[in-house]
Amino acid sequence: MKNNFFEKAEILCVGTELLIGDIVNTNAAYLSRRLATLGIGVYRQAVVGDNPARLAEDLRAALSRADLVVMSGGLGPTYDDLTKETAAAVMGKKLYMHEESLARIEHFFRSTGRTMTENNKKQAMMPEDAVVFRNDYGTAPALAMENEEGKVVVMLPGPPRELEPLFREQVEPYLWKRCAAVMVSRNLHIIGMGESSVEAALPEAIRNSSNPTVAPYCDTGEVRLRVTAKAPTAEEAGAMADRMAAELMQLPLGAYVYGIDVPSPAHALIALLETEKLTVATAESCTGGLMAGELTAIPGCSAVMAGGVVVYQEREKTALLDIAPETLAAHTAVSATVAKEMAEGACRVLGADVGIATTGYAGPGGGTPEEPVGTVYMAVSFRGETVVERLSLSSKRDRKYVRDVAVKRAISFALSFLRQKTKKS
Ligand code: ATP
Ligand code: MG
Repeated sequence: MKNNFFEKAEILCVGTELLIGDIVNTNAAYLSRRLATLGIGVYRQAVVGDNPARLAEDLRAALSRADLVVMSGGLGPTYDDLTKETAAAVMGKKLYMHEESLARIEHFFRSTGRTMTENNKKQAMMPEDAVVFRNDYGTAPALAMENEEGKVVVMLPGPPRELEPLFREQVEPYLWKRCAAVMVSRNLHIIGMGESSVEAALPEAIRNSSNPTVAPYCDTGEVRLRVTAKAPTAEEAGAMADRMAAELMQLPLGAYVYGIDVPSPAHALIALLETEKLTVATAESCTGGLMAGELTAIPGCSAVMAGGVVVYQEREKTALLDIAPETLAAHTAVSATVAKEMAEGACRVLGADVGIATTGYAGPGGGTPEEPVGTVYMAVSFRGETVVERLSLSSKRDRKYVRDVAVKRAISFALSFLRQKTKKS
């Protein structure tokens, strides 16, 4: 099918000097960078010597895989500069004398006081229906050819001081116009799975999909799975991205997605509480009020946020939340039992429907062999039912990381519990 944009590009640099290591292939790096900014993925870079048979073979192979091949080098006037002739033959195009280019080359020689030789004329020969990019920096024009399948070969002169401005000033606008594609992304926010587990949970067909692309990114305490679709219009691209997002939600990893394109778990929780007309209260030990801070940072939270308590010392856990000193002595403050009683106490004391609690070792000191630094108990209480989860973060993580992640995890834990409990059947 003929697309009006490019999904896969390859770069093919021509020159024996590159192969023998006389010069470094800066053109490939430059072209890759620029193509990336256009949203065109480069799948391969190759170098071939000044040999027409091998060049033809490599170009044919590149065209069988990619829909855009960008070539550099071998557009000069000498006998070993055979890129254009070879590529035209591969694409089945005849060459003709491009008068405008010939006039420009003649003018270039006159203005630099040099004599034009007969073989310079070869640089003005162009494949039929090629797009010619005038070269203001040297003699050989750059050009683009398209075959009946809509595959495009762009050819650029080798010297970087010619290639770079030519590409930027003329080839990019040409590619841009021809691409005319819109990219739309959807982000699936995942908590409770690492980046590599998310990647491993993707079926191969999805992992290798080139449109939409699906790629995991690691953020603090969460993984973002980004779906990006490219299509001629925003509606089409959006619909493609939505279809892929829906497909991903059907996978087991869908259970770990706390939201699509939501800024944080706190935003998703506040929104859910608003729709369900529920109120929330927090009871925090190791997170010291950060959770209440995160929830109250969201505009409109006053409709759903009852309040929060920070109960850092055991005495305060007893005084403010009625946790029996015996319970604390028997289980220690960092335990499932105490987390549970904290969440329940928050509901009772602050008169809220939902209570969320955290208690743990944020480090660097503290912890026990059974409950090392990085252990955090999170509890959620809702209508008399309380669930507890133990979080084990690496003890090598710093205090800030442990506290930030504990907040995110506790909120998303509450979110998934409430979603389950309020699900309309
Ligand atoms: P010319 O008209 O100068 O012969 P050309 O298009 O035929 O241009 P080449 O002969 O392949 O290009 O290379 C000319 C010079 O350009 C090389 O000697 C080298 O300095 C530079 N060059 C070529 N290819 C690359 C590359 N891939 N990366 C960096 N520099 C390159
Ligand atoms: Mg040359």
